[in-house]
Amino acid sequence: MDFQNKLKKNISLKDLTTFWIGPKAKYFCQTNSREEVVEAIKWAKAKRMPFFVLGGGSNVLINDKKYKGLVIKIRESGIRNQESGIEVGAGVALGKLVGVALQEGLTGMEWAMGIPGTVGGAIYGNAGAFGQSISDCVEKVEAIDFENQELRIRNYEKEECDFNYRDSIFKRNKNLVILSAKIKLQTGNKIEIENKMKEYFQKKKQTQPLEFFSAGSVFRNQELGIKNQELLKQFLELKQFQDKNIIPSAWLIEKAGLKGKRIGGVEISRKHSNFIVNNGRGKARDVKKLIDLTKKTVKKKFGVDLEEEIQYLGF
Ligand SMILES: Cc1cc2nc3c(=O)[nH]c(=O)nc-3n(C[C@H](O)[C@H](O)[C@H](O)COP(=O)(O)OP(=O)(O)OC[C@H]3O[C@@H](n4cnc5c(N)ncnc54)[C@H](O)[C@@H]3O)c2cc1C
Repeated sequence: MDFQNKLKKNISLKDLTTFWIGPKAKYFCQTNSREEVVEAIKWAKAKRMPFFVLGGGSNVLINDKKYKGLVIKIRESGIRNQESGIEVGAGVALGKLVGVALQEGLTGMEWAMGIPGTVGGAIYGNAGAFGQSISDCVEKVEAIDFENQELRIRNYEKEECDFNYRDSIFKRNKNLVILSAKIKLQTGNKIEIENKMKEYFQKKKQTQPLEFFSAGSVFRNQELGIKNQELLKQFLELKQFQDKNIIPSAWLIEKAGLKGKRIGGVEISRKHSNFIVNNGRGKARDVKKLIDLTKKTVKKKFGVDLEEEIQYLGF
């Protein structure tokens, strides 16, 4: 199909994000195949136009001003379970991958139950929960490198993906677009897999404000490099955290007295202090003000530099 026919103008991005915040994009296209992704990138490059790849829009904050470039929304591109692993397109919902794993009796994706977004977005930010992450199951990733005029499609073996806590080569190198991945899971017991998924989802519902618009955790959690000895002592005395080397940012934000803090239509969730929730009328500028206030307050109180997990567009 001719790419020009796929191209749309002045499309609202708001309902393509879980934050329910976003302006119009000057140009927009939805791609259903790797060829269409290539065409979209080529089109933008030829016009020297900025472009942004959007997955499920569940980890982004888009500024209120119109985006003057092209938004490429990566959609489905298939999921196939083979003997050697699951081949999955970047635009496939993470929930669909979880569903296929359950259906096929494969264990390793239970932690992802209830996490929104796409497989591409999850690989980009190495999404994870309950001490596990997508990097535990990725065997290889196919991506386009568009740094040079000639676009290059190549496979990245797991080691080359350079996964870290909420981080990957795809997040650091802004010239890569993920097309697909091969996921390797282990054969398991279907009932146990289902029970684990239910248990994790129940925990998520209890601790996260899933009933509100949000973009998940705003800040990355902190390594134990905390200088405030009194705070460190308090944290280490708490038994409720699984990983004693990581201080949840939610804990620091709550300790800083910011729980429930509101600016305009957005507030720091009372249920989970690392979530900012939108009542439906929130603006990106309100979210940004709340983020800046949180960073400043936590720095002043505890000497800790919070770092955003959410990705910005147009700031
Ligand atoms: C209620 C809720 C709960 C959440 N719980 C969790 C959780 O438990 N654990 C967790 O880790 N996250 C969680 N998140 C955050 C979010 O769902 C994940 O980070 C998710 O993996 C993002 O995927 P996405 O497709 O929505 O990415 P998007 O938000 O669309 O994009 C995020 C970034 O990835 C880039 N990107 C997306 N697709 C591609 C691609 N194909 N190639 C290159 N770059 C790409 C985008 O350009 C952007 O920079 C939660 C979010 C919400 C709203």
